[in-house]
Amino acid sequence: MRGSDFHSRPAADLLLEFAVDRARGLDEVEVSRRMAQYGPNRLEAQGKVSALNILLHQLASPVTYLLAAAAGIGLAFGQHLEALAILAVLLTNTLIGFVAETKATRSMQALRSLGHRSARVLREGGQHIIPAEQLVPGDIVLVEGGDVISADMRILSASRLVVDESTLTGESEPVEKSADTVAADARLADRASMLYKGTAVSRGTATCLIVGTGFDTELGRISQLVAEARSSRSPLEKRLAEVAGHLVWLTLGLATLIVLAGLLRNADPFLIVTTGIALAIAAIPEGLPVVATLALAQGMWRMARQDALVRQLSAVETFGSTTLILTDKTGTLTENRMEVVTLCLPAAELTPGQFVSGTVDGAVTTQLEGLLQVAALCNSSSLEGNGDAGIGDPMELALLRAAASSGFDRSELSERLPPLYEHAFDTATRMMASVHGAGDGFLYAVKGAPEAVLSHCTKVRFPDGDVPLDENGVTEWRELVSRLAGEGLRVLALASKAAASDSEEPYDNLVLLGVAGLRDPARAGVAEAIAACRQAGINVAIVTGDHAVTALAIGRQVGLPVDRAKALEGHNLARIDFDGASLKATTVFARVNPDEKLALVRAFQEAGEVVAMTGDGVNDAPALRQADIGVAMGKRGTDVAREAADMVLLDDSFQTIVVAIREGRVIFENIRRFVSYLLSCNLSEVLVVGLAVLLALPLPILPLQILFLNLVTDVFPAFALATAQGDASVMRRPPRPSAEPLLGLPQWRRIVLHGLALTGATFAAMTIAEGLLGLHGAAMVTVTFLTLAFSQLWHVFNMRHPDAGILRNEISRNPWVWSAIGLCSLLILAALYQPQLSALLGLVRPDGAMWLTALSASLAPLLVIQCASLLTCPGEEERAR
Ligand code: ADP
Ligand code: MG
Repeated sequence: MRGSDFHSRPAADLLLEFAVDRARGLDEVEVSRRMAQYGPNRLEAQGKVSALNILLHQLASPVTYLLAAAAGIGLAFGQHLEALAILAVLLTNTLIGFVAETKATRSMQALRSLGHRSARVLREGGQHIIPAEQLVPGDIVLVEGGDVISADMRILSASRLVVDESTLTGESEPVEKSADTVAADARLADRASMLYKGTAVSRGTATCLIVGTGFDTELGRISQLVAEARSSRSPLEKRLAEVAGHLVWLTLGLATLIVLAGLLRNADPFLIVTTGIALAIAAIPEGLPVVATLALAQGMWRMARQDALVRQLSAVETFGSTTLILTDKTGTLTENRMEVVTLCLPAAELTPGQFVSGTVDGAVTTQLEGLLQVAALCNSSSLEGNGDAGIGDPMELALLRAAASSGFDRSELSERLPPLYEHAFDTATRMMASVHGAGDGFLYAVKGAPEAVLSHCTKVRFPDGDVPLDENGVTEWRELVSRLAGEGLRVLALASKAAASDSEEPYDNLVLLGVAGLRDPARAGVAEAIAACRQAGINVAIVTGDHAVTALAIGRQVGLPVDRAKALEGHNLARIDFDGASLKATTVFARVNPDEKLALVRAFQEAGEVVAMTGDGVNDAPALRQADIGVAMGKRGTDVAREAADMVLLDDSFQTIVVAIREGRVIFENIRRFVSYLLSCNLSEVLVVGLAVLLALPLPILPLQILFLNLVTDVFPAFALATAQGDASVMRRPPRPSAEPLLGLPQWRRIVLHGLALTGATFAAMTIAEGLLGLHGAAMVTVTFLTLAFSQLWHVFNMRHPDAGILRNEISRNPWVWSAIGLCSLLILAALYQPQLSALLGLVRPDGAMWLTALSASLAPLLVIQCASLLTCPGEEERAR
């Protein structure tokens, strides 16, 4: 570890020590060398879950113990073949569990590593945006408000830098930082010349030198102690693990009772004990948590492939209950590809063709130059870097391009009017200012939302001088802004002032130069996504910092039910009395600042909505945390917002929210389905054996057969159900009530009824086999075994959503379900017709009558349950008629 006196040494010294040119940064060869020396800049614990760990975890389960016990008993009773078969079951069972858990764990790990932070770095003389993992000591990085710092760094120069270090020092007050050296013995919290990994920049900008990466950072030193403290299981998985845990004891209890009852009735002790064990093995739902994880991981991968990155596992459940999406306008509903389409000067209105240099007449030219100069100066973006795309805010880039096309180059301007510092854009005031040296005095360049800027202007610039701005003037400008906004344009006002001092209040006594209208086209596909939300019972409202009229125009373009009456401005929020109805009727919330966003989320939640809210700024973090689903932007958002969010949209697009909601619903349904399926199958096995023992009937299904069923008919259909991808009907249903648990009363009731139906069919088959066909022993058991096996297979179709069509639904259209049924049928046939296997399992070759009995009895539960559900709950197709 290097010495940590960086805060007390002059920046120039450190640049020498780290052998880097502050204007050029490192070059790539040196970066590779340092990467090899220091390793990547990350804190992930190296200890991945190893295959051995997973295997041990699989082996350490009650089912394994029971199987081992069963094998031991087989050996003790001299049943070597059976013991071997049980060992084979144990191996297969472990293997399936191992494969499933490995897949689930690996895919969760890979998902977690997707969400990396990026950094703006200076290398080989140019700016680049790179994943923060690739930073090395000696890199020169540029940070700004909203960034989460990704390595320890010494500040080389800073402007109005304020940092929230609460993650590191626990102090919630943001602290000011600068490049000045600090006493060598300063505490961590007082080292104002340093930025530490994991802290967040609230405001300002800085250029810094990286002095430590990865574990060689203050955060790294702490997190070595608490590595991997983060819980990696979702509430859903935890609850399932709990249910499974309870059911283990219940099953063991029931199995013991059955064995005792059998022994009291003088059944064959070996048979009854092995039956009891087999039953316990079959009925213990050990697979629930693993299959749930698998279902989650698969669903989350589907989301990730569609640009929705889930950061909080618990969000997956909430997606299905979301009733309201509060969405940004800029970049989410629109492309965020801005273009200046009009510039309005006092007494002139120019379109793009005109402001290309030389095409406007002389008098206007000076006015225009003043405006474009401010557009280029009061601007924290840069046209250089990132290929030709530039780096920074698209709106600012559009202004820079407009200025450049008239011959205003920023670097040239900066020589004449050197930038001194910046008052960064603030979402509360909706303005920003930059201060420049101008000869003996100073120039303040200001841009911002028109109302904000207008209210600070005292004069207007005309070709022949500045004229006071009066009431009438303000009204005229307001009308102009409204007209431009009505066309869906984003409108920005530009102003400036000359001053003798560089420490004046930046927003006082401004001179208005004009306004710019920027076009930002609505994204393709948003209208369809909004229509899909409407069908799915989800409301959508725009929450924007922009002008109400612009928001209404964009809302109209994407098909939201908007009109003037349904728009509300942020400052009116405090006055409105939040009864649910008037709130819910509002579809546009304009000029909303971050505090009001938070209040809005709370109000909607109190009105009973489950709210998904988008956000991108530092100040959005509280609202993102408060929302049931906080959605941050992957491209344009700040690190702070991303870290507060439950989900990140990699493409910033509204459609992706809808995709995530759909996938969330699918995952929840899948988990509910396979859990219900497995539990009802398990219950039927317990009931079949339990009742037979209690009623002193011959056993309808023998121990090895139970194990075979458990390996075959349960597993594959359950996997198929767990990994279904849903269909169109998923988004035609209303949101699931958020209070509705995974397994509520209706689900348990259905599990029991279904279990009873499967049991009934098996006993019916037994009665027919004994009474009508006169079968006994192995022949009879073959019929009952086949009945139970096939009825469990057909039972998957009972898992359709009660609202879905009887024949065409998510289950019947899921190819995996059909593959599982095909595979299981083949395995059952093998059990019947493969001589060694059938001898081992105690099955005989069925004749036509036996097949007919078994197949028709096995279909009975499906028919009965479907008829019953038709009577109680008509399907979608039926209702449509
Ligand atoms: P949005 O919801 O449209 O992203 P913001 O809160 O980002 O809203 O911006 C609100 C308003 O502030 C914009 O309509 C614009 O007038 C102004 N604005 C946005 N960004 C800047 C900036 N970088 N400089 C000056 N003004 C800005
Ligand atoms: Mg914005």
